Amino acid sequence: MAHRIFTEEYDAIRKILKTESFSSDAAAQRLIASLRSVVATDGPNKSQGRALDDLRDQCERGLLNKVFGSRKEKEAEGILALAGDDTRLAKKAAALKALRHFYLMTKFGGHSLWVNSLPAHYRKWTTEQLGGISNKDQLKTELKKIEGRFSSQQMRDLVSCSQTAAAWANRTHGMCSKTSGLGALRVDRLIRRWFADEDTTDADIKSMRATLREGFKKIATAALSGKMVFTDNPIDRGTADENNFAYVWYDRLNVVYIEGQFFKPGLFSGPRHWALIVVHELSHSQCNTVDVPGHYDFDGIKPKRGTFPSSKAITNADNWAWFSADCNFALTQKNRDDALK
Ligand SMILES: [Zn+2]
Repeated sequence: MAHRIFTEEYDAIRKILKTESFSSDAAAQRLIASLRSVVATDGPNKSQGRALDDLRDQCERGLLNKVFGSRKEKEAEGILALAGDDTRLAKKAAALKALRHFYLMTKFGGHSLWVNSLPAHYRKWTTEQLGGISNKDQLKTELKKIEGRFSSQQMRDLVSCSQTAAAWANRTHGMCSKTSGLGALRVDRLIRRWFADEDTTDADIKSMRATLREGFKKIATAALSGKMVFTDNPIDRGTADENNFAYVWYDRLNVVYIEGQFFKPGLFSGPRHWALIVVHELSHSQCNTVDVPGHYDFDGIKPKRGTFPSSKAITNADNWAWFSADCNFALTQKNRDDALK
């Protein structure tokens, strides 16, 4: 069955690396062994992330400096050389090609994020885009496509906003943990702003504070896990699904799909907006929030008796994301007015 999601592709790559024989060259064998340890069962292994840079390095120089020609030529030949003999060559080359586009991005302070930036031309996951090709020239043509979906600036923006989202979630969790004093008064005021309707009682606020405390703990843990992956979904490319900001799906791994609208403005734009989207998506995957129909931020997310009661707002991803942004002093009065209508 065709791969729909990143985790299926990741598992396919793991299987190919585990079961196939690659080049018998000693340096190649060492590199393959390192690559195998990157793709751990429960998600990519940060301590082995360098192997991906070594793979790209080999591609750029031509494997073991034995390949000459243009950059794209070297890369295609380098991957084929590393793949080894012709037995299931396309499959082996596809797994290597997939990893060549997989990056461990790190920030000062130890925050990290995996970014998958597949060739912009691909319309399927790599093992399916390449895996069935029997003609070597055709395979080379696919391997020569090296321009990734995300620019290097966008990749830096992605790791930065994942770090911001982690910090927001962490602080929000800390605020929701306060039960007395000024801090508790302040967070209760913010909970009231984003989640209370006309009928909400103080006991309801207390109960929602507990829900948010547990939820934001999970979001912070996921964002700081060192196993979070951002990718677009190549099968969405050129379809209506590409016009999303982002989404999460039923991945075993911690994956957020970054889609065509992500870098475009919403109610506001830039780094704060990207962090808002990431918190929204992690609230889905970690806390089972939903998108209450007709209540995205641009529709208005102010809770109201009858039409959008508190009991719905506490399940709505955008209310979680905006609440967290507010806990982190990330909103102007205008931003709040735009969303609280
Ligand atoms: Zn959503």
